Amino acid sequence: MALDFDVIIVGTGAGGGTLAHTLAATGKQILLLERGDFLTREIANWDPGPVFVDGRYISPDTWYDRDGTPFQPQVHYFVGGATKLYGAALYRLRPQDFGEIKHADGISPAWPVSYDEFEHWYTKAEWLYQVHGLHGADPTEGRWSRQYPWPPVSHAPRIQQISDALERGGYHPFPAPCGILLNEAHRAASECIRCATCDGYPCMVHAKADADIIAVRPLLGMPNVRLLTGAKVVRLETDPNGRTVTSVVVDRGGDGREETFHGDIVVLAAGAANTAKILLRSASDAYPAGLANGSDQVGRNYMFHNSKAVVALGEEPNDTVFQKTLAINDFYLAGDGWDWPLGNIQMLGKSNAEAMKGEEPHLTKLAPKLSLDEVAKHAVDFWLTTEDLPKPDNRVTVDDAGNVHLAYTASNDSEAAGLYGEFRKVLNHIGMARHHVLHKNFYMSMTIAIAGVAHQAGTCRFGADPATSVLDVNCKAHELDNLYVADTSFFPSIGAVNPALTAIANAIRVGEHIAERLGVSASGTAWAPAPRQAPAGYTPAPSTWR
Ligand SMILES: Cc1cc2nc3c(=O)[nH]c(=O)nc-3n(C[C@H](O)[C@H](O)[C@H](O)COP(=O)(O)OP(=O)(O)OC[C@H]3O[C@@H](n4cnc5c(N)ncnc54)[C@H](O)[C@@H]3O)c2cc1C
Repeated sequence: MALDFDVIIVGTGAGGGTLAHTLAATGKQILLLERGDFLTREIANWDPGPVFVDGRYISPDTWYDRDGTPFQPQVHYFVGGATKLYGAALYRLRPQDFGEIKHADGISPAWPVSYDEFEHWYTKAEWLYQVHGLHGADPTEGRWSRQYPWPPVSHAPRIQQISDALERGGYHPFPAPCGILLNEAHRAASECIRCATCDGYPCMVHAKADADIIAVRPLLGMPNVRLLTGAKVVRLETDPNGRTVTSVVVDRGGDGREETFHGDIVVLAAGAANTAKILLRSASDAYPAGLANGSDQVGRNYMFHNSKAVVALGEEPNDTVFQKTLAINDFYLAGDGWDWPLGNIQMLGKSNAEAMKGEEPHLTKLAPKLSLDEVAKHAVDFWLTTEDLPKPDNRVTVDDAGNVHLAYTASNDSEAAGLYGEFRKVLNHIGMARHHVLHKNFYMSMTIAIAGVAHQAGTCRFGADPATSVLDVNCKAHELDNLYVADTSFFPSIGAVNPALTAIANAIRVGEHIAERLGVSASGTAWAPAPRQAPAGYTPAPSTWR
């Protein structure tokens, strides 16, 4: 195969996959390098045992914490990256998140672009990823120029009851934006009964709007786009003065044999930790501390949200299948009795007895007369998110053997406690005072909180000042002419909502910039929702869901 390309993109997740989609219509020669393979469609996709108990889709990587203790990080190496497992909750940041915000533990810094500048790409992202939602329903949201392409997913009866009770209590529940591909033609939601939710599961019927299905697969027949799976990028090499990346070095067999590819432009989108790792492993005479790291910022400012999962029990059974349809941002910003922003409350995927196994002692204590099946039947699952601050000492480093070390201490614990306090009042309003905070990552069989790297971000932040940021406003490395980063690494702050839509919107933004730089237009890209087709050989069951 040809070894020279106009653009080489490393990683096919929310950032890399979307960037490739943005550039594909330009006709430029694009190479996508992905260390994983396509995630296999199999019954286990929807089985909580393999998924949650065995961690079937988690990479076998070993990383090390600040003290050198090994752990297995919750990273997913597939075409589509972490979005193959994500919950597809596709939120915009609030406008305030783009400015400086004071928090209990410090400052959440301003972005070099404003929400109003970014809004254009949020809209494109929502249309590309076919998001269901309702702009105008959340009082904290910013300006929006176009309604979501699809109406909100209707609440199941139990969630509708909760929403009504919240409104009666003076709260402002709104339909959670979600990227799932359901309509009468596809009728995939009926099949969701088997996996209960997108959250943490791959979708066997390809009804989740992930980067594989939405962004990468539609490009595979294009003559100008090549995807190489099983291609782990190990380092980048530059010209002697260090201004230009000349080679992307790939390990394709895991046996130390290396192949080299050349791109006029190289984009890293390997996820926040792995992008930092590649840069740090690309140290040279020109960059002794790692490529693009003259500022010593590569790997620093790692963030991942201060989150809590809470299972609440009501008298009424909860037979909801798709639970992630409701959210509240009433505590997102400071005010009304609390000094600091507290965060976002949203639903989690519906719990089930199998996935609760690890929590059994606590949960059965909570409801001693009930079996675990009964507990799961009555459970309503919530996810509380408080903003985590970028701290220079929360950082990714790499040892001589190439192992990732992740030093992390949570921030804003007092805000997280404040959010939990408000949430307890919410539970009182909805008749579910009995509840249980899950003390470990209940969705993955992991015992170390640091391993929950699902929302990793911030390791190569963008900014105007090369002394305090790695990337410029277009996400090009300050110190190099042809190196970009397009995953969640670029976040200067993470806000308190899920990060994927922002990564997607930014990848479109960066893609359009690169197209312009190459003298072509990315406007040929179709943003309208694509036809929704079930995969070959799949016959959907009848459904009443919309
Ligand atoms: C269980 C789970 C649930 C989540 N739910 C939500 C949600 O509901 N909403 C939301 O907004 N976010 C959610 N997230 C987070 C979201 O998926 C991530 O923020 C997003 O995918 C990050 O995009 P990215 O491009 O930075 O990285 P990724 O999507 O992870 O993509 C990185 C890609 O790079 C590849 N790669 C890594 N190293 C190399 C290398 N050396 N060479 C070549 N390729 C490499 C990986 O295999 C992967 O394909 C969830 C994540 C998880 C794990």
